[in-house]
Amino acid sequence: MANNDLSRRGFILNAIAGSTSLASLQNALANPGEGGPQNDADTPVAQSAVGSDLDPHAPFAEFSELPIRSIEPQGSLKAYLEKQRDGITGHLDKTGGFPFDTDGWASPEISDISHNPYAYEQTGYWIDGMIRCGYLLQDDKLVEKATRHTNYVLDHPDKDGYLGPLVLKTKLRWPHVVFFRALFAQWSASGDRRIPSAIKRHFLSSPYPYALGREACSIEAILWTYERDKDPALLNLAHDIYRKFETSFKLNGVSPAAYCDGKPSDAHGVSYNEMAKLGALLYMQTGEKDYLNVSVQAYRKLDAFHMLVDGVNVSSEEMRELTPLESHETCDIADYTWTVGYLLMATGNTDYADKIERACFNAAPGAVTEDFNYLQYFSCPNQVIAAHNTNHNVYFRGDRTMSYATAHIAACCSGNVNRIMPNFASRLWLKDKDNGLVAALYAPSQVKHRVGKQLQEVVVTEKTRYPFSDRIVFTMDMKQDCEFPFTVRIPGWCKSASVMVNNQPLNEALTAGTYVKINRKFHDGDEVVVILPQEVKTSDWPLDGIALERGPLVYSLKIDQDWESTTALMESIVKVVGVYNFTSRYPGLLGRNAYPKSPWNYALDINSENAGSATKVTENEWHEDAPWSSKEPPIQLQVPARRVIGWDLDRPSEITVEGGIDDPGLTPKEYDAKYDDPSWLRKGDFVLTPQLPTESTSGIRLADESELVTLVPYGCAKLRLTIFPRVDRIAGGAHTESESNQKVSLNHQDFN
Ligand SMILES: [Zn+2]
Repeated sequence: MANNDLSRRGFILNAIAGSTSLASLQNALANPGEGGPQNDADTPVAQSAVGSDLDPHAPFAEFSELPIRSIEPQGSLKAYLEKQRDGITGHLDKTGGFPFDTDGWASPEISDISHNPYAYEQTGYWIDGMIRCGYLLQDDKLVEKATRHTNYVLDHPDKDGYLGPLVLKTKLRWPHVVFFRALFAQWSASGDRRIPSAIKRHFLSSPYPYALGREACSIEAILWTYERDKDPALLNLAHDIYRKFETSFKLNGVSPAAYCDGKPSDAHGVSYNEMAKLGALLYMQTGEKDYLNVSVQAYRKLDAFHMLVDGVNVSSEEMRELTPLESHETCDIADYTWTVGYLLMATGNTDYADKIERACFNAAPGAVTEDFNYLQYFSCPNQVIAAHNTNHNVYFRGDRTMSYATAHIAACCSGNVNRIMPNFASRLWLKDKDNGLVAALYAPSQVKHRVGKQLQEVVVTEKTRYPFSDRIVFTMDMKQDCEFPFTVRIPGWCKSASVMVNNQPLNEALTAGTYVKINRKFHDGDEVVVILPQEVKTSDWPLDGIALERGPLVYSLKIDQDWESTTALMESIVKVVGVYNFTSRYPGLLGRNAYPKSPWNYALDINSENAGSATKVTENEWHEDAPWSSKEPPIQLQVPARRVIGWDLDRPSEITVEGGIDDPGLTPKEYDAKYDDPSWLRKGDFVLTPQLPTESTSGIRLADESELVTLVPYGCAKLRLTIFPRVDRIAGGAHTESESNQKVSLNHQDFN
């Protein structure tokens, strides 16, 4: 969401201005299929682009991107992108309400909210995710839906070359940063030379200062254009904007100095991640290491103070002190992984690839339903309930932002969620400075590219169930023998990797956290096999919390779920927040509430020494089209645990809230007055996931008997406990069950 109070207020006031009858709301709920997701038929787009003029290599980058259509997702990755296409990504205009149901960028302005530039940010996110998803799936219909917006912008420049809605021209150019990424993808797929020349003219045509909010991120598109055009005026403009970023930007906690101060941050999460890439971008063009150091320090700070177990930083919406109840905005999954991808290309450091995988294999599937029809605005490692009144973060506290909905009132995440896995897929394969191929991230796919000194075309097919399996098989397909570097990654978590070429182990020591470059003459049919054994290990978290992970996957308690009907949900929403103009503006709010129907209040009876021996790993039947299934996860762990009796859901009847939006009874003036009041008190029936119990928590006790509980991959768990209390830390300060002679009750009430 926008980190700008005025814009946020304006947006929210628009949100709450409308009203409709309960009858029309009920009518819409009774016909949920109308306008709902449809399965667009595939029509293949043209032959994949192969060649070097579409993929320039920044002079100081270790790796660079391939043309997007060189990469063809297959297997489970393709299935995920198809679910996006058939769910939110392909249908947000019909299911997500405002602003996705407008003409968006294919119009001079979004008429009914023209004063709010953030509607263009939100639609820009969506268009970027949609166009990449379309190219990767070779789905013409999806591409056409996105290029309706990009081509309109290219075809309607202002007299001076300015691109985009006129309402943004002198007001705020942050939304352009988002939207131009869709043009990068279109150029990568088509080589349409209008694109770099139009972006160049846009930036060089006016003295616009680029000095507000996240406008410094314009450096991304300026340098993208410089890489293709080489006009030094573009590089100079990027330097000028960076100087302002160093000296005069007024975003809290977001500046080169703040990134490098070694202290915790209270910056807005999206702003932090978006701006953190700027140093790496300038380094790749100039080789000036001071620039790169700022980006590197920014991510060290996140690791040191704010990193959640699912691989994305705390951002609710600001960064806060890490606790087991802290969450992130879904936007941050997209922005974090996109920026870290630049650090990967700048440095060639495997740690950044590990970070992207951790976020994309845990946080990303954990924030959406398996069918990709509903997303959370805030998602949390510990969320044992996800309904209209369960957001336990201080921001929007008590509202529906942790429920699974097609769209949320603050529409940023509804747009941004579409970018995460298309971005991941488009950077699966990179190229190095020697025209070699780099398997930067791992997922089933096929890549076609010209490699080696002769730029000879090769096709490499990658078959794997990774991250659910440790085996990755690459098969070469080429017309003539070809000498080129082929690079594979040994993740930092893997201590016993092996790599074989045509069944012969590589004759070199393999070190965790390195890229292994195989330089040889490859033949048609050659096979490279990478084995990355995964070991169970624990990680430590605040409040004596413990989590289990294995390879790139984090594991969460399997909690059976009741998904509430839309009718019941509608009645609940109206009871708590009153009636909005749901049907015409926010149909996406009519999502799903998830309630626990199995016990969740467990403490783990393991420690870092015995985690491997005490955990049973079971591989289940493999379903390529549904690896993130909550019902049939491909892999599960069983670990000893004990119930923590008395550790129950919090049920406050009044709460304080920051940025509360669910109060349609307020006038704009009253809303403004309350917005900055940190003690805004709300009354209602709230149900919140509780904080971890500790030795000093009163009223809790451990059950006598130990049980084996089942943990599933984080992304399979829509309700989850991921940071657990430890039996040995609770036992010391708590009564055991037998002392109070109370039996463990397993009725539904206990789970809620
Ligand atoms: Zn967001």
